[in-house]
Formats: sequence, structure tokens, C-alpha cells
Amino acid sequence: MLHPPRARLWSADRATGSVEVGEAAAPPRYALLGVRPCDVRAVGMLDRVLTGGQHADPVYSGRRDGAFIIAVECTEPGATCFCASMGCGPGAESGFDLAMTELVDSEGHRFVARAGTPAGAELLADVPSRAADEATIRRAGAAVDEAADHMGRTMPTQGLPQLLAGSRESPHWDDVASRCLTCGNCTMVCPTCFCTTTEDVTDLTGDHAERWRVWDSCYALDFSYLHGGSVRTSGQSRYRQWISHKLGTWHDQFGSSGCVGCGRCIAWCPAGIDITQEVAALASLQDAADADED
Ligand code: SF4
Ligand code: SF4
Repeated sequence: MLHPPRARLWSADRATGSVEVGEAAAPPRYALLGVRPCDVRAVGMLDRVLTGGQHADPVYSGRRDGAFIIAVECTEPGATCFCASMGCGPGAESGFDLAMTELVDSEGHRFVARAGTPAGAELLADVPSRAADEATIRRAGAAVDEAADHMGRTMPTQGLPQLLAGSRESPHWDDVASRCLTCGNCTMVCPTCFCTTTEDVTDLTGDHAERWRVWDSCYALDFSYLHGGSVRTSGQSRYRQWISHKLGTWHDQFGSSGCVGCGRCIAWCPAGIDITQEVAALASLQDAADADED
């Protein structure tokens, strides 16, 4: 929604000699209802990547500036979720206008809501509500804490940048490559992946031309094409690049991990590749190598 798969960068007309820079229409204004805490964190990461540098991305910031985010904390994690071990859920701490926690118990079905911004407080004041008592607030907190205790997966997070940097020549990459189809699904569903490429198109007369920005994937052969060829020609090098950036070098670039533990890359991998299991396999190979050295 905030970083669209396709966006027009400019268009040009030969007949009029005009060039129009930017999208054809004004950016849409979104109210995003039911955003899970992992995705709220992912939006924060995209803010850092796409607006935190010297040149803010106009497509992203045009949508982001007008967005209103209503987060819903998780009380029922999915089988592929591991946000708790990434410190990105299941509770929402910041980055929302309103946050809600759903409670269903003997006292009925209700939401405990809290405002994160003045705009959130304004909306809250407009809907029927009453002040939550201490017991209700405690129950909402307990429901979120309980969700953290039964996540479907766990990511070993200790020293991941070092683990990935030290695993550059690991034999495990060949093992992953024997299963990975380099389809790029994991990058398409990842809420923090942001890479793009550009496409130039013309109409049939050649009088009208446009340049579009479209999502790209580090699994595509062309992604690392420099003069003369692609740098990462093998599947193993492309998987290694993705996971090493996401969990390792992202820290150097943006000051945090690039993974929020949403589990989508696991759910949508046609080969059943699980990022938490691959990290665990790399860690156990590293431990074995360290033991051999000792
Ligand atoms: S979704 Fe799975 S098979 Fe496809 S590129 Fe990612 S890890 Fe490889
Ligand atoms: S790497 Fe996988 S689990 Fe982590 S944020 Fe991306 S899709 Fe979610």
C-alpha cells in the first residue's frame, strides 16, 4: 500500500515536447485498519530506508504522510510467526495512530484501545467508548503476553550479523540452493523488502514514453547485472545475499535487523524453506566448526 509494486516516474510526449515528472495522480490517502504489530514495525523500517536518507522517496512519502494506522495487537499468533524473538510483536509499542487489543471473555466481546498520536485520540473521542478499568487493561496485556509464549517459530537472534558474516563459505548454501527455486516469492511478500528496478515503455507510435518503477527481487538474475554480466549467477549466492542482508548487513546499513518475524516468507515459499531453520542450521555448523578448532 505504501510502497506500491508499480509507480510512474515520468512521462514524455514528443508532439508537445512536454515531460511530466512523478505519478499521474495525487497519492491516495489510506486508513489502514488491523495492521499487526510486526507490520507496524516494518513500516517503521521502510520509513528509515525510504525517507531517512538525504533524498526521501516521493512515492512512499506521499502515501506515508497521509496514512492513518490502526494497529491490532496479536493474541493468536500463526504457526509461522516469530515476531516475539525479533522483538517486533505481538504487542505494538509505537508507530500507530490507534492500537487495539481484542478481548473475548465472560464480559463480552470488546476492544481495549489506546491512542498513539493526537489524530488517534481525536478519532477515539468520536466513537462510543468508556475508560477501561485496571482489570481489563491487565487482561488485555496478559492476552498479548500469552501470545508471545506460543509463537509458532523462534529465531535465534544472538550474534546473527556475525554468524552470517562468518558463514560466507558455509557448505549449507549448497544445501539451500538444492531446494530453492529462486522464485523470489519470499522477497515479494516480505514487508521490509524494498528493491526496485525501472522499465521504459512507449506507445505504438513512439510519440509517448513513460518510465515506471517496479518491484525487483535479489533472486532475479538481472538484479545483480553489471556491465558484462550478473554478479550472483548461482542460486546459493542469491539466497545467501537475501538472508545475509536481511539478518546481517541490514544492521550496518539501517541500525536494526531487516526481519520483523512475520513469517510470510515461510508461508509463501513453494519449497517449504524456513528462514528460522536455515539460521539454526548455519548456527549448528558454526558451533561444530568452533568445537573442531578448540
Ligand atoms: S520463496 Fe523459497 S524457493 Fe522462492 S526464492 Fe524464496 S526461498 Fe527460494
Ligand atoms: S524475512 Fe520473512 S519473516 Fe522476516 S520480515 Fe521478511 S517475510 Fe517476514
